[in-house]
Amino acid sequence: MSGSRVLVLNSGSSSVKYQLLDMRDGGRLAMGLVERIGESGSRLKHSPADGESREWNGSVPDHDAALKAMAAELDRDGLGLGSPELAAIGHRVVHGGLRFTEPTVVDDAVLAEIERLIPVAPLHNPANLTGIRTAQALRPDLPQVAVFDTAFHTTMPESAARYAIDVETADAHRVRRYGFHGTSHAYVSRETARLLGRAPEDVNVIVLHLGNGASASAVRGGRCVDTSMGLTPLEGLVMGTRSGDTDPAVIFHLMRVGGMSADEIDTLLNKRSGLIGLCGDNDMREIRRRVDAGDERAGLAFDIYIHRLKKYIGAYYAVLGRVDAVAFTAGVGENSAPVREAAVAGLEGLGLAVDGGLNAVRGDGARLISPADARVAVAVVPTDEEMEIAAQTYALVNDSGNQNLT
Ligand code: ADP
Repeated sequence: MSGSRVLVLNSGSSSVKYQLLDMRDGGRLAMGLVERIGESGSRLKHSPADGESREWNGSVPDHDAALKAMAAELDRDGLGLGSPELAAIGHRVVHGGLRFTEPTVVDDAVLAEIERLIPVAPLHNPANLTGIRTAQALRPDLPQVAVFDTAFHTTMPESAARYAIDVETADAHRVRRYGFHGTSHAYVSRETARLLGRAPEDVNVIVLHLGNGASASAVRGGRCVDTSMGLTPLEGLVMGTRSGDTDPAVIFHLMRVGGMSADEIDTLLNKRSGLIGLCGDNDMREIRRRVDAGDERAGLAFDIYIHRLKKYIGAYYAVLGRVDAVAFTAGVGENSAPVREAAVAGLEGLGLAVDGGLNAVRGDGARLISPADARVAVAVVPTDEEMEIAAQTYALVNDSGNQNLT
């Protein structure tokens, strides 16, 4: 295999995000986004590394048209999909069930298994499949690699992965805790070890991935032992629009007493709950602005968000026994000093503290925000899921290339 470039595709139901990376030096050659696929007012934004960003609005009826529009933009920059430099296409696939514990070169059997998992990931896996099939049609000769959000969490012990419900019923319907954001948790836990100057195998980390979706994980020596999302990404932390943990009986109550249907409750808990349900905003910047202006609803939403976060820090501290670092990542984790400060406040007894000055400094790279003499490091570690997908994809195709030679 000669090429050193990897195209990373993250195909959602109405959007495709892409990045073209050069794995010789990890440089980003181009990135972009096609939005509102199949809707009115589709939009493409393309940003080459050596040039101005370009945007256009037009009609993008389906994923095929979206990837062709992306390919045309890459062509304009001399980075076209026909280039022999392109080694592989790496796809984010949300649900890999129990079968996919590693990145996997896509073949018909892999596609069939991703399809078989649609009942547990009805929103994501169909879009991911469409992205893979469309990319295959564009470059049938190229390895397509699926990198699964769930893979990092497949090391969870049964005690963490199982719900305490009737085993036969659970197994019949594949009900268990799978966890998501795994690519980010893997990358951030490793980068945290690097920041500490230690090997990942020697470090226990609590990773707090706080974006619009949010999840926590407990990582012992580089392996995930617990995570806060479950069968679906609804469980766990309070998120932008998702409730996170609730008593399951809330659902029966809303059905029986509130007269709501399963679909209505699904929408309520996934789209109209969390921060937006509590205060009408899901952007932490706006919530903090309101809190600072004395808005009580925003204040309560913030407090509920922090209370849940703190509970997970405590829980994962107990799960791990010894914690070397707590790492904040994703949009909120990387940017919101008030969230980081509040999440750790009062946990000095656990050896956790934030240095106000360090926490307030804005920066792009991984950095420590705990006092120099802290027992447990508190860190901000920017996530880079695309780079992780590209790195896993490249490693896999290089490996299989080498095996073919022997
Ligand atoms: P996702 O990938 O889940 O869509 P991101 O990781 O990009 O989410 O995070 C998006 C969220 O990050 C926004 O909804 C907002 O709440 C938060 N965010 C982004 N920038 C800032 C900032 N400067 N300060 C506080 N919060 C921010």
